[in-house]
Amino acid sequence: MKKIAAGSDVEAYCTKCKIVLAHTVVSMEGAKPRRVKCNTCSGEHNYRAQKPVSKTAAPKKPKTKSPGKRTRQTWSEVMQEAAGKPHKPYSMSGSFGEGDWIEHGVFGLGCVQSFTPPNKITVRFADSTKLLICNRS
Ligand SMILES: [Zn+2]
Repeated sequence: MKKIAAGSDVEAYCTKCKIVLAHTVVSMEGAKPRRVKCNTCSGEHNYRAQKPVSKTAAPKKPKTKSPGKRTRQTWSEVMQEAAGKPHKPYSMSGSFGEGDWIEHGVFGLGCVQSFTPPNKITVRFADSTKLLICNRS
């Protein structure tokens, strides 16, 4: 390892040139250069061995590349899965809540998307979304 002192040439990251370049040490801090002068742009700045890396850009996570897209099951997959689970038969007098699976006489299996008080539910069926009545006494 080369001994570095003020006046030595070192490789450092230049904050102006934005790359690692030859610099001349201006002042030292212990065994490390503290301030350096860029041989290319003559800019003087604090010594950085390398380009600063941001913590957030470190490990790549390919799954989060396009959030909201393809991260969830397709609707038909959800339908298939739900078909094997218990679901309530739909009737106007029934009481349903968000997330309930219902079996409708005409539309088939559907999932309650939202409940609008006092008596409406939005239900997503295989290929349509319907507003249905519930809680009818
Ligand atoms: Zn420079």
